[in-house]
Amino acid sequence: MNKLVNKLHKNNTLVDPFNRHITYLRLSVTDRCDLRCTYCMPEKMSFLNKKEVLTFEEMYKICSSFIKVGIKKIRITGGEPLVRKGIMNLFEMLNPHLSNDLDELTLTTNGTQLYKYASQLFTHGVRRINVSLDTLDPKKFKLITRIGNLEDVLTGIEAAKDANLKVKINCVALKNINENEIDKFINWCIKNNFDLTFIETMPMGDIGNENRLNHFLSLDDLKKDITQRYNLEDISFSTGGPARYSKISGSDIKLGFITPLSHNFCSSCNRVRIDATGVMHQCLGQSNSFDFRKILRDPLSTKNDLLENIKNSINQKPEKHSFAYDFSKENIKGQINRHMSLTGG
Ligand code: SAM
Ligand code: SF4
Repeated sequence: MNKLVNKLHKNNTLVDPFNRHITYLRLSVTDRCDLRCTYCMPEKMSFLNKKEVLTFEEMYKICSSFIKVGIKKIRITGGEPLVRKGIMNLFEMLNPHLSNDLDELTLTTNGTQLYKYASQLFTHGVRRINVSLDTLDPKKFKLITRIGNLEDVLTGIEAAKDANLKVKINCVALKNINENEIDKFINWCIKNNFDLTFIETMPMGDIGNENRLNHFLSLDDLKKDITQRYNLEDISFSTGGPARYSKISGSDIKLGFITPLSHNFCSSCNRVRIDATGVMHQCLGQSNSFDFRKILRDPLSTKNDLLENIKNSINQKPEKHSFAYDFSKENIKGQINRHMSLTGG
């Protein structure tokens, strides 16, 4: 074993050039999805060829290598992770790490298939999940997702509650679409005891005829508006991500604001993402990447090759994203060509 790998094992920690400890891995298990959210992808989306997508064995191998060098939390995402056939196998494979060297295994889902999998997720050690839901109005849900039924998601959320999974709702704030139902949304989350995080639309991937600027809603403005009716108290809670949290007085829920455009919180970033093809993206909003599939599929490569390359690629994590909307010129800066559904949100 060479010196570098020895050092990795001893330290068991990944630190990037900006002294950020990288402890969180998001793994996209498929780029496919059973919805077509207008801010995420075009109506006619082309998907990866199956051969390009990592097998569960390959995904397990890369996850366990990351765990070995200090990753403590893994989020399974996509595309829609629950549409990948046999997906529970991957949770089952990762489960033994939870009683050993992994603190949390979790999931981000659109919720349409949750009714089938909620209790199995709990069995495999998942305790908290994020469900993405942008509206409680069935017609708007169809408008946003193009092909989805709100009822499926609500049934899935009920199943998650029944299975004792703690649910956090992620809601993309969309001007002229869901901005007039924000109070309804907050009240629904309070009633159900769901934490709620609002997200600003990010310029990632082509979305056909849709225009992101038309529906961009600044969360600074949204928060100001919410504080006119709710008593918000900023709290120091952090997941090391871009969200900042407040407590709503009189309730138990946390309200999060992910504001990559209004504010840049990259200095506390603790995460990297691996897409469904095994390419690691060191930053959601930059094009730096490293292809682990090449190593995983090379019959001559060793476990140490994986460990060394993880360390090297963390050394290339950029300081921050460069997304910016210029409304005066109707211009989007720092646009990233790949879709969020490939990289994993
Ligand atoms: N399909 C799953 C879901 O929707 O939860 C997981 C993948 S999805 C890409 C993860 C998250 O990214 C969702 O909360 C979604 O709303 C968000 N998202 C997708 N495209 C986005 C964009 N361009 N800007 C901001 N958030 C986006
Ligand atoms: Fe699918 Fe999630 Fe993208 Fe919506 S946001 S199209 S559910 S991947």
